[in-house]
Amino acid sequence: MGFIRFADCRRYTLAVSKKPQSPVPAPAPAPVRHPVAIKGLPVSGGIVIGRVLVIDDAMRRVVRRTIKSGEVKSELGRFESAVKASIADIQRIHEQAERDMGREAAKIFTFHIGLLKDPSLLGQVRTQIEKELVTAEYAASHVLDKLASMFRLHKDPVFATKVNDIDDLSDRLMTQLVAQEGAPGSREGRIDESTIIVARDLTPSQTASFDRSRVLGFATDHGGMTSHTAIIAKALEIPAVVGCQTLLSSVQDGDLVVLDADKGVVMLYPDTPTLEHYTKAISLRKTRQAALVELRDLPSVTTDGVPIHLVGNIELPDEVSRVIGAGGEGIGLYRTEYLYLTGNEEPTEGVHYRAYKRCVQLCNGRELVIRTMDLGADKYTQAQSETPERNPFLGCRSIRYCLKNQPMFKKQLRAILRASADGPIKVMFPLVSTIAELRQAKFIVNDVMEELDEEGLPFDRGIKIGMMVEVPSAAIQAETFARECDFFSLGTNDLVQYTLAVDRINERVANLYTPMHPAVIRLIRDVSRAARRNRIPISNCGEASGDLEFAMLLIGLDVTTLSVSASGIPKLKRFVRALNKEQCDKIARETLRLESDVQIAAFLRDRARKMAPNCFDDSGGD
Ligand code: PEP
Ligand code: MG
Repeated sequence: MGFIRFADCRRYTLAVSKKPQSPVPAPAPAPVRHPVAIKGLPVSGGIVIGRVLVIDDAMRRVVRRTIKSGEVKSELGRFESAVKASIADIQRIHEQAERDMGREAAKIFTFHIGLLKDPSLLGQVRTQIEKELVTAEYAASHVLDKLASMFRLHKDPVFATKVNDIDDLSDRLMTQLVAQEGAPGSREGRIDESTIIVARDLTPSQTASFDRSRVLGFATDHGGMTSHTAIIAKALEIPAVVGCQTLLSSVQDGDLVVLDADKGVVMLYPDTPTLEHYTKAISLRKTRQAALVELRDLPSVTTDGVPIHLVGNIELPDEVSRVIGAGGEGIGLYRTEYLYLTGNEEPTEGVHYRAYKRCVQLCNGRELVIRTMDLGADKYTQAQSETPERNPFLGCRSIRYCLKNQPMFKKQLRAILRASADGPIKVMFPLVSTIAELRQAKFIVNDVMEELDEEGLPFDRGIKIGMMVEVPSAAIQAETFARECDFFSLGTNDLVQYTLAVDRINERVANLYTPMHPAVIRLIRDVSRAARRNRIPISNCGEASGDLEFAMLLIGLDVTTLSVSASGIPKLKRFVRALNKEQCDKIARETLRLESDVQIAAFLRDRARKMAPNCFDDSGGD
């Protein structure tokens, strides 16, 4: 390959040397662009206007950052030093390559040096810094990107082969610039308060690492409504749109975009009227949010006096305060796997204990349901990613993984039990699909209790043990399970995917993913009945609880504890206070007679708006 590249290089060099002027074609004038809307799935609400930062391992990541006019001189200086350092670098590599590969082959690097000395190219970068007041990183990458695009489209295929070299050179320059002390373009520095992250996909832990005070929002090409990345975005209250499919190929670092995560739209090239429209929408949204805050201390009760318990889903202990601040009565789901996903090492018992104790303290006597780790599927550890499964959603995940890794499981259970000495805690097992799993998990809890007794460590002996009902086998056998556990929590996120055979994170089948499917609703009805007959509480902690129309149905099916992200609580409370439980029951009965998700969605939409017209932005509410 090296020789092919060298041959191209020589042809290129020859072609260039015949031309009197610079090899760099003059830039074409920028085309006038009209606003373009790219649709995705709205997974975490909000509207923001900002500049794109592409996070994609296959691409460079340079955001358009502006500088003050007084900084132009130093920015030019930074650019000159980066160019000098890059040339020195390449010369060193050139010498090394000459020794290792021979003179001819090493000539490849003369192309790089030639470009770095090209007055036209350097001039374009300098002009951009001076005229547009942008950082050296942005100017250099922008000019080199444009050059690479021109080479890519050039009639002579020799030019296309040089694109990699230009990208290489751009990376080298970026490395130099970023390495400079105090560089505004350093990795950290590139994210600022106006950043909207665009990526092909983000893992839940990548998302969890975003600083919510700095990242305005994000949009990805992959992902579904209940992907864990989406769940984290909601937890962090970062507006997010996923499943856009074509966004990454349509934007560049620094592009101004509007992210309307209420509607699931990314507006590219917004013009003045578009920006004005969204600026108004942002301020209207703020007013509405402020009105919702006033509901915080009001009871969550229907108009006919039935209490509906609104609790929160959390991923990190500090979110407890957000849930309570939003008017939640406690925590219905603490997804503890984030203790594993946010670090590189398995958490120690101490790490677990401190996290649970903090939650207990913040809950201050309120309900706290700690779910044991739900690892696997799209939430995998380093160790799991080293031996990937062919079908991880049907593989060794959640309780299955815990039962196979008992020392790890026991460590967590010890910490949960120890923290239960400080305040009320309930333990919940995820993804239980057989009664043997439930029994084995309970057996291990007893084992751990004995250990703690022997060590003289206190814990709550009457700790309630429940399970998630998120697999059809558990829903169908709910009567059996209800006799052996203290509570149920429906997990519609997984229940939908396993009942309908629709991957919850795959944007290509997102249109098939819906809790409104009659089969899902019948399963929920059966689980709720089993809970009622066996006198155990039931809640739903899947994302569907936060969907007002579906929440109305759940209430009608006697699922009267709803667990949602903190941001979803105020809206839900306002809705609950407008509902009539008896009417919800009737609606649930009628829903069970319908045959398709489309009919059900239309029916619930209509009934919810009739019962609570002011709770929907699209029906003239406040
Ligand atoms: C669910 O499946 O509905 C659930 C709440 O669990 P998770 O989203 O963490 O899989
Ligand atoms: Mg689940």
